[in-house]
Amino acid sequence: MEPRRVILFVFLFICRIFITLQSKEHVLLDMRASGSELGWLTSPNEEGWEIVQSVVNGSLFYTYSVCYIDSPEQDNWLRTTYIQGPPGTSRFSVELQFIVRDCNTFDGASVACKETFNLFISEADADVGTSFRKGQFRKVATIAPDEVTRGKGVKINKETRTVGLLSKKGFYLAFQDMGACVALLSVRVYYKTCPSTVQSLAAFPETVADALKVVEGSCVNNAVSQATPRIYCTSEGDWVVPVGQCQCLPGYEAKENSCQECKQGYFKPSESNELCQVCPDNTKPSSAGATECLCEDGFFRSPSDPPTSPCSARPSAPLDLASTTLSGEGRLMLSWSPPLVTGGRSDLTYSVACEICDEDSCVPCDEKIHFETGPADLQDTTVVISGLDSHLNYTFTVESRSGVSEGNAEGAAATITTALDYTTPPKVTSIHLDDRGPTSLSLSWTLSRRPPAHINHRYELMYRKKDVDSESDVTTYTVLILEKNSVQINELTPDTAYMFRVQVLSPEGMPGSFSAEHEFQTSLLAESQTQNKPTVVMGAVVGVAVILLVVVAFLLLRRRRLCSRGRGGPEDPFSTDQIKPLKAYVDPHMYEDPNIAIQKFVKEIDPSAVSKQKVIGVGEFGEVFRGVMKTPGKGEVTVAIKTLKPGYSEKQRQDFLSEASIMGQFSHPNIIRLEGVVTKFKHAMIVTEYMENGALDTYLKDHDGEISSYQLLGMLRGIAAGMKYLSDMSYVHRDLAARNVLVNSNLECKVSDFGLSRVLEDDAEGTYTTRGGKIPIRWTAPEAIAYRKFTSASDVWSFGIVMWEVMAFGERPYWDMSNHEVMKAINEGFRLPAPMDCPSAIYQLMLQCWQHDRSKRPRFSDIVNILDKLLQSPESLKTIADFDPRVSIRLPSTSGCDNTMFRSVSEWLESIKMNQYNESFARAGITTMEQVLALRPEDIRNIGVRLPGHMKRIAYSILGLKDETSSLSVFAV
Ligand code: AMP
Repeated sequence: MEPRRVILFVFLFICRIFITLQSKEHVLLDMRASGSELGWLTSPNEEGWEIVQSVVNGSLFYTYSVCYIDSPEQDNWLRTTYIQGPPGTSRFSVELQFIVRDCNTFDGASVACKETFNLFISEADADVGTSFRKGQFRKVATIAPDEVTRGKGVKINKETRTVGLLSKKGFYLAFQDMGACVALLSVRVYYKTCPSTVQSLAAFPETVADALKVVEGSCVNNAVSQATPRIYCTSEGDWVVPVGQCQCLPGYEAKENSCQECKQGYFKPSESNELCQVCPDNTKPSSAGATECLCEDGFFRSPSDPPTSPCSARPSAPLDLASTTLSGEGRLMLSWSPPLVTGGRSDLTYSVACEICDEDSCVPCDEKIHFETGPADLQDTTVVISGLDSHLNYTFTVESRSGVSEGNAEGAAATITTALDYTTPPKVTSIHLDDRGPTSLSLSWTLSRRPPAHINHRYELMYRKKDVDSESDVTTYTVLILEKNSVQINELTPDTAYMFRVQVLSPEGMPGSFSAEHEFQTSLLAESQTQNKPTVVMGAVVGVAVILLVVVAFLLLRRRRLCSRGRGGPEDPFSTDQIKPLKAYVDPHMYEDPNIAIQKFVKEIDPSAVSKQKVIGVGEFGEVFRGVMKTPGKGEVTVAIKTLKPGYSEKQRQDFLSEASIMGQFSHPNIIRLEGVVTKFKHAMIVTEYMENGALDTYLKDHDGEISSYQLLGMLRGIAAGMKYLSDMSYVHRDLAARNVLVNSNLECKVSDFGLSRVLEDDAEGTYTTRGGKIPIRWTAPEAIAYRKFTSASDVWSFGIVMWEVMAFGERPYWDMSNHEVMKAINEGFRLPAPMDCPSAIYQLMLQCWQHDRSKRPRFSDIVNILDKLLQSPESLKTIADFDPRVSIRLPSTSGCDNTMFRSVSEWLESIKMNQYNESFARAGITTMEQVLALRPEDIRNIGVRLPGHMKRIAYSILGLKDETSSLSVFAV
């Protein structure tokens, strides 16, 4: 046995190293670790397996060996102590380390020598002690060495067997030797677990490694997952294939298998495995565990901004806001530059608002105004606006907005007050031949845009014979300055080609660009003789020559520019003083048969083309309807239809239609346009353009205080231009009054009411004078009242009264003074006082119109010029004429009375035509005149008086009531 002991010793030494090995194994039995007798049973008891004790490094340990190779029939058993079965698993492993001696190394090797031994197991629910029965064991495996040991080179074999499907609480192992030389160095019985672990922020419990099985875990603190996290535990004790992911809550980040709070100054907005981020720009530093970083004061996020985005400042106002008038009707372009502060955002947009403002208040522009790319959410820094009125001043507010602009609250905005700029004249786009004779050509032309009603452009027409002078340096042109966009040129050479071109001149005489040259030819003399008869006849009948200023200019082509620059100067041959109308008005009474005048000047309309819709007024001869007229080119147009009431006499019919034959001679944007007449029908009708806002006096009364002085001035300018046209046509109106001016939806004013008899009969204001005939006294110049001297100068007086009516919002001139009192006052030098809020310059012009000496009154051309100048410099309207409420609001005849005479608040409100506020005053508890006298301007607003004009009227009246002294001084000029 000696050599065997040596070998075993060497074995033990080598095996020391295994003792220190760690594993995730749970050891049920470890032969080596046992520091004492193992207590294993051997059978037979004395022979067979024997225990060998060794001390290595001061520690005692045991091995078992057996080596009966010479004697056959060996059956040596070695049984372990009772091993408590592995909990929760039916499998365990047995790891054996052993040495088997090569049978060949024994001299005269025995045939009985074996090189294997057997492993057995016996299950038992309890320790059976030393009772050992082989029959209770079942064989697990035959253990064969990989290498046998020969000589000194010890070969340690290691073999692991998995034993499964145990059903009892514990078991015994047994080793059967049947004639081998074996040393059992180590027996380890163990089972494996997958250790508790944290994977992907999910914690999994330690799990016995059995067959491959799925284990459910749970998220670590401050982490969540949508599905239960799972992982597989292999039979080898390895975790594989984690399924499902836990994510740290907002404000936490994953670090070392746990979720930890974000540090100060960091944030994490959502459930994710991302790391916390540094707070973005313009935010306040966050505290630990922050889910967002709040914006610094003055910085914001839009609702759609993610919390990771920086905060931005609200945009500042757009810069360099400017407007440019565009070609086309009423079009203007606003442009601006982006604001200084954009907040670094890409969602910067602009919105544009349009208002019409006076000094006190603004009203939104009406719906006609169209923003071509919409008024809001503009990304461009331009917008084209159309549908603008040429006589209005618009205030545009362009506001910068971005995602951080506050709800509907206003953002930073730039404002511009502007009007269409028509100082640049439109262009003549084409010239048409309307009629021709051997010595005459009738031409008309069209413009690139329609000039606004209040701006009267003139035209410079140049023509020359086509083939003459073409070789020469010098071209002879004939130049005409014209008021209308049509002309008849006479005294031409028959059958000759002429070249024409036209340019538009602004009211200031600034020329636009020339049209292309157009060629037209006069007819042959023979061809015309029959054709031209009516013209000749008409010429004879009319007896009024069409006066044209014909200037033959010898213009060197290269000097043409110089000449045009000088145009308008005092010695300029084309200055306005020399402009003459092309036509003069023809009194229809000049015709023996008035029907001829109608045929001549008026278009006959087929009765089936007009249909009446609604009564809109009553004239002297019958009702006035709004209706529609079918026209071949334009479809249906809205028109006004004046009717002749049934039972008329032939004289009445002629008088009725005479208005049409006068109107038919006019063509001006400020004169009501005649569409035509229906005469071949029992009920004669006069069809005119429809004026949506009706008569001016009513319109103004209805809009008292709502229209700015500038707009009122624009309206007056239109009336003055219409009157200038009429006076240029040598037509005297005789009944110019706000009631005879009509207003359309663009607030363009047009003079109407041209009946021949109207001055005598039609007008309700007409008063029989001592010399017979009816005259509207309040509107009529003294010389016309006194000796029927009706002239354009008397029309100018009436225009002055219209100015007063307009500025006083339809107030009746001279209030309820009697006609007699009015005439007396006028003759004594009194004049109407300035209406409330009337710019001084306008009142001065009124006073000029009321000069007693008619030659001192301005002409309509002067009036148009003055009004244009005022319109061009609105600041000139800032000075307001002196106003005395006691004169203007109270009746002059009562203004000398005690101002405290009002017995009630409603009586007082009635006197100043503000009785619509009766209820508001009562509701506010203002029931006595003492309370009225104590009112301050802000109290008036609080009572519910919002319109600036009304506020002023009431405030002025209170002012007047407070001042006991009454005076008519302002009334005197
Ligand atoms: P007249 O006989 O011209 O004085 O017209 C009587 C009333 O009819 C006027 O005061 C207006 O209210 C109305 N009226 C007349 N002509 C027109 C028109 N062209 N457009 C709109 N209303 C009109």
